[in-house]
Amino acid sequence: MPQTPIQKTMFAEIADSSLYTMAQKFINEYTAEIFERNVFPSEDALKNLEFFEESLPINGASSSRILNQLHQYGSPATTAQIGGRYFGFVNGGIVPAGLFAKILSSIWDQNTAMQIISPLSSKLEKVVENWLRELFNLPKNVVSGFVSGTSMGTFCGIAAARYRILKNQGHDINEDGLAKAPSIRVIASVEAHSTVIKAICLLGLGKNNVEWVDTDEQGRIKVDEIPKLDSNSILILQAGNVNSGSFDFFSSICSKAKEDGAWIHIDGAFGLWAGTSKNLSHLTRGIEKASSWSVDGHKTLNTPYDSGIILCADKEALVSSLHMSGGYLILGEERDGMFLTPEMSRRSRIIELWATIKSLGKNGIDEMIYEMHMRTKQFASELSHMGFEILNEVVFNQCVVFFQSNEKTEQILKYIQNERVCWCGGSTWKGKNVIRISVCSWATTDKDVKQSVESFQRAKLKVVGTSF
Ligand SMILES: *Cc1c(COP(=O)(O)O)cnc(C)c1O
Repeated sequence: MPQTPIQKTMFAEIADSSLYTMAQKFINEYTAEIFERNVFPSEDALKNLEFFEESLPINGASSSRILNQLHQYGSPATTAQIGGRYFGFVNGGIVPAGLFAKILSSIWDQNTAMQIISPLSSKLEKVVENWLRELFNLPKNVVSGFVSGTSMGTFCGIAAARYRILKNQGHDINEDGLAKAPSIRVIASVEAHSTVIKAICLLGLGKNNVEWVDTDEQGRIKVDEIPKLDSNSILILQAGNVNSGSFDFFSSICSKAKEDGAWIHIDGAFGLWAGTSKNLSHLTRGIEKASSWSVDGHKTLNTPYDSGIILCADKEALVSSLHMSGGYLILGEERDGMFLTPEMSRRSRIIELWATIKSLGKNGIDEMIYEMHMRTKQFASELSHMGFEILNEVVFNQCVVFFQSNEKTEQILKYIQNERVCWCGGSTWKGKNVIRISVCSWATTDKDVKQSVESFQRAKLKVVGTSF
C-alpha cells in the first residue's frame, strides 16, 4: 500500500514507545515539583512564552520536538492548578484516577455522540447518570447530559424550561421560534452568576425581562421578595454563591414554586456537591423539588477539564430543546448522548468522570468535600486572628477577606499574587474590594493553608508597615 511521507511519519510515531516514554518522563518531572513550587509561573517562565510565537510552520515538526518544546517552555508557564495552593476562581484540582483515565483514554479518542460510535462511552454515561441521581438524592426520572461546564449546563436547563413552558401553551419553539411566542417570565436573584445571564441572553429571553430579586447579606435570594410565580415562570436559584459560597433556602422556596407550577433551575456549579457530604447536606436540602440542575465535575469533584453536567427531570423537554435530526443517524438502543447535549461530537469526558467517582466512592467524595470545608474554616480562623476581616459566613469552601480599606485590601492581594506562594483572586462584595479564597482541591492540606496565611501576613506587614 503506498504511503505518503506524512503517513509514514505518523504511522511510525503513533506506535513509537519512546514518545510515550518521553511524555511519561516529562509528567514525572512535573509532578515531582508541582506540589512544592510557586503557584503562579515566574517572570522568566512567562517571558519564555515568546518561544511559542512563530509564523505558520510550512514544514512539520516531529512529535518529540513538540513534546520537548511543551515541556521546556509550557510546563514552567502553567499555574500549579493541581497543587494545594491555588485558590483562584473556583478551580478544582485533579483526582489521580481521573488523570490516569484521561491519559489512557486519550489514545482511544472516543466520540460520545452516539452509542454506535462509542458503545463504551454510552455505557459509562448511563452508569454515571444513575450514580449522580443517588449522590445528589434526585428523583428516578432525572436524566443527564455531559457538557463542557456549568455554563453549558445552565444553558441546557433554561432551554428545556423555555421549551416546556411554551409547549404547554401549544407553542413549539423549534417550529415557530420566539417571534410570536407567549411571554416567559424569568426570576433570578441579583447575585445570579454571569453565566446564568449569558444563557438568558443566548436563549432570547433578554436581561431586561428578568424579574430581579434582592439578596440578603450572604448573597441568598430573599425568600419574601420572590414574586408570585406561575406556570410561565422560570425561577433560577443558586447552590453556592461564587463569592460567599452561600446557598438559597431551597426547602421553603422550591415547594412553593413547584406548587405554583414554575420551572426551577438550580445553578449548583460547585455547591451541589455539598449535598454529598453528610455534615454539609443541610445546605442543599430541598433541591430535589427542582426541574433542572447544572453542576461541574471540574470544580469541587476535581475531574479534569472540561466536565459539566445538566440534570433534568423532564427528559422530553431537554431532548426536544436540544434535538438533532438527520437521515444518517443511527439510534442506539440504550443511550445516544448527543440528544441530551447541544453538541453532536463530544470527547468522552464521561470516562474521567466515571473514574473519579469510582476511585473516591460515596465515602471518599464526602471526605474530600468536607475537607475542603475544613481547610476553608482554617483559613478564616487564622486570617481573622491576624486582623483580617472575614465578610461571609463560611458555610462551604469560599472565604471573602477584607483588610481595613479597599486600597489596603487591593495592595495586599497584589503582594500575594506577586509573591506566588499561593494564588487568590479579587472580587467585589457588598461594595467592598475583597480577596476571594476558594478551597477546591483535594490536595490542599493544613500546611498549604499555613504557608498561604504566612503570605497574607507578609503582605499585611508590607502594606501597614512597621508602625502598625
Ligand atoms: C463556575 C461557575 C459557573 C460557570 O461554570 P463553568 O464550568 O465555568 O462553565 C456558573 N455558576 C457558578 C456559581 C460558578 O461558580
